[in-house]
Amino acid sequence: MLATHTLNWQKIFARFFNLVLPQACPICQSFVTGAGLCSNCWHDLRPIAEPCCAACGRPLVYAMLDSLCAPCLIKPLPLLRIRAGYCYDAASRQLILPFKHADRIDIAPVMAAMLAPIFKQLAHKADIAIPVPLHARRYIKRRYNQSAELARWLCQHHGGRIEFAPQYLLRTKATPSMAGMTKFRREQNVRRAFAIAHPEAKACLAGKNILLIDDVMTTGATLTSCARTLLKAGAGSVSALVFARVV
Ligand SMILES: [Zn+2]
Ligand SMILES: [Zn+2]
Repeated sequence: MLATHTLNWQKIFARFFNLVLPQACPICQSFVTGAGLCSNCWHDLRPIAEPCCAACGRPLVYAMLDSLCAPCLIKPLPLLRIRAGYCYDAASRQLILPFKHADRIDIAPVMAAMLAPIFKQLAHKADIAIPVPLHARRYIKRRYNQSAELARWLCQHHGGRIEFAPQYLLRTKATPSMAGMTKFRREQNVRRAFAIAHPEAKACLAGKNILLIDDVMTTGATLTSCARTLLKAGAGSVSALVFARVV
């Protein structure tokens, strides 16, 4: 009962301060009346909508009978499905790059709210949400994992019953940045880069439907490598949600 009252007061105060103190758009810093993007920055983003590939979420020009893009028909992914909220372009980079490289973890709630409708669709078919992990060395340098911050907000504020579980999957290989690499080089780079954290984690993952969460997908090599590790450990299925993807 006490917790419910506290939550209600928090909501009332939050609404009051939103009315009295306008907030800043996280991209252009212009004033907005609630947490989120201003209309100009929102207009520049390209949300990914249907029709898209049923497997990898790539936008399709028109709906096809089997709803699969050519790369997925040729080489099926080990993931059940991948969904992305937005195209990775100049507009979405203005959110993602500061979030990833400039300590702007205050952007996490905004990005989580923007991704919430797709997350809710995927979350009710999944048991566990796992953010794509950083290698320990990169984590110490950056001091946070942007994918974990996004996943934490999604699970805590938009997730229902899904469990936020960053503790099961580790990145054991310190891979160099993949910017500019070909698809083949990316696959080689992240091959066997992930591992299950400890033997007990295997028991927690057995038969579970996993939802991987990441900020950006380029070729899908990282998600594929994570999925193979989780499936090998006994996971029932692996899907993924990313904020933006290269199209
Ligand atoms: Zn703006
Ligand atoms: Zn596809």
